[in-house]
Formats: sequence, C-alpha cells, structure tokens
Amino acid sequence: MHCYDCAQAGRHDANGIGACTRCGLFTCADHSRVLQTTVQRPIGVIPMTSVLPSRRLVCGACRTAEAS
Ligand SMILES: [Zn+2]
Ligand SMILES: [Zn+2]
Repeated sequence: MHCYDCAQAGRHDANGIGACTRCGLFTCADHSRVLQTTVQRPIGVIPMTSVLPSRRLVCGACRTAEAS
C-alpha cells in the first residue's frame, strides 16, 4: 500500500506504514503520527485502564483536525 498523501502530491513510491485509525487511509512515516494511547479493558463490570501504553496511528490531516 502506498501513502495517500504522497500520491496526492504526485509521489507514488512511498510505502505506507499503516492505516490511520480515524479515516482509514494509508500514510507513510512522514505523513503519519503515532500517538500513545491507553487501552480500556473491562475487569468484570469495572473498566480498567492498561498500565502499559498502547499506540494509535493518525494521518496528518486527522491529527490537524483533532488539534484544531
Ligand atoms: Zn507520505
Ligand atoms: Zn486520517
């Protein structure tokens, strides 16, 4: 899979590193942000937050939209 943002800019050789968790588009390392996040898992009926951080990938456009 190639990076969507690079393809928009006319570059078709950039390999995507993953899919944005918000919009689902593939983006490369330059166009992605990997953010730390926590995982909620239910212990019985009580939601517990994971001790170790997980991660999520968002593309530049979604990161900008989230931050604005
Ligand atoms: Zn790219
Ligand atoms: Zn996105």
